[in-house]
Parts: sequence; C-alpha cells; structure tokens
Amino acid sequence: MNLEFLPLFSGSTGNSALAAFGETLLLIDAGRTGRALEAAARAQGFDMSKVRALLVTHEHIDHIRGVGVLARKYGMEVYASEGTWEAMAEKVGEIPARQRCVFTPEQDFYIDRVNVAPFSIPHDAAQPTGYCLTCGGKRVSVLTDLGHTNAELLSRVEGSDVLLLEANHDVQMLRDGSYPERLKRRILSRHGHLSNEACGQALTALLRSCRPQVYLGHLSEENNVPELAYSTVAHIVEDYGAQVGSDVLIRMTYPDRAAEAVSL
Ligand SMILES: [Zn+2]
Ligand SMILES: [Zn+2]
Repeated sequence: MNLEFLPLFSGSTGNSALAAFGETLLLIDAGRTGRALEAAARAQGFDMSKVRALLVTHEHIDHIRGVGVLARKYGMEVYASEGTWEAMAEKVGEIPARQRCVFTPEQDFYIDRVNVAPFSIPHDAAQPTGYCLTCGGKRVSVLTDLGHTNAELLSRVEGSDVLLLEANHDVQMLRDGSYPERLKRRILSRHGHLSNEACGQALTALLRSCRPQVYLGHLSEENNVPELAYSTVAHIVEDYGAQVGSDVLIRMTYPDRAAEAVSL
C-alpha cells in the first residue's frame, strides 16, 4: 500500500494536508477557502471529489475556513470531537447529519482500512485533537497547534513514518516583535503554539521510536523565518546525536503553496 502525504497550506493564514493510503484519500483540516483548496489539490494531481473524509483538528478559522463549502459540494464525511463540532457549528454552516461524524479523543476508529487515532492536544480551543493515521504498516501523524508536549502525548505519534509537527515561532523574535503583550502571552502559554526549540525537542524524543520524515508546520510569518526554524530544529537533532538527512529528513511547509509531497 502506497502512502502519500502532502501539506497543501500551512501557517496562520490556513492549514490543510492530504493523506492518501492507496485509494483512501483523507483531508486533514480545510483552513483556506474551498476554491483555494480545490485548486491547490488539483495542481498536485489530487481530485477533491475523491476525498473520503475530512478530519478537523479544532475550530480556529485557519483550520476550518473551507470545511462547510467542501462538505456540501462533495458530500464527504467530516470528523471532529464533540467540543470541536459545537464550537465550529455556526462557522461551517449546515452540514447534513449523515456527514457529521463525532469521535471521542483517545478512541481510535477506522475509515476504510485506515486506522484513525485522534488524541487530545493542549491548545486554547474547545476540544482540539491531533491525529495518528495508520494503514498497511505505514503511519502519518499531524501534531499542530499545541502549547507544549509531554511523554504521553508524544507516545500517540510513536513510530510515525511521516510527521507534520508545528514549529510556530522563535521565542526571541516573538518577545521582541510587535504583537500585543496579551497575544504574546497566549502564544507562549502551555495552550498556545510550539516554538522552534520545543519542536526540536519533541522530535528528538520521537527519534527513539522512529526515523521520520518531518514537515515543519504552522510557521509564523511575523515571528519566524523558515531558515531559522530549519536550523534550530536541525541543531537540536544533531546535538542529540542524530543525523539530519539519514536519521530524520526535515521538510518545510509554506503558507501560500503546497509543500513537496512525500510518497512511501
Ligand atoms: Zn492554527
Ligand atoms: Zn489554533
């Protein structure tokens, strides 16, 4: 079974990624307009009408902007936690009951042959979740919009072949930047976003269980630069004794265009 993973957009202006396990095509978040997501998918050879299900991490607008439009146009099932459903109900508009799928975090389920394991993450949203998707011995995980990690949380994505991991900000850039103090405190809080350093540390912890290809995601355009995110994470990984390029492959994502797809 072939696994393809493709972040379509990643950043505070919108997040969405495609995961294809053989014929089963899943969309994780739909944070741009339906039209932008359709165009981005089409440009990479994917057809939105083939998407079997849409998995939503949480109700922030940069993750759900296109959910309602895509669900109504293509009839795909939409999965989210109960808290996320309640919090996003007004923003996504009417979605037919047969397409509304509610899960309980920490209880896995199947979509076709893909095992979907949603798990709670610490973020300032109603009931936010990360996802670990496994099929045919291949595993891809999405871990974005979270203020911190710990051993239990990281155990949820152990053994990942592909990982989308948040590297939101450089702490010093954020502290020195122009954001209001309240917003800075929110981002830096334990329910905010992962810094480049925290991303690197989470990654080294995971290297005990896997040798993943990692996409650095949700980079702040104001409080980060791609080269700094890459070099900070790479240095932490190398200080741990792992080799970037052989033990772990670090890939970038972009706010305005698709990343390079990985195919395993
Ligand atoms: Zn976000
Ligand atoms: Zn968020």
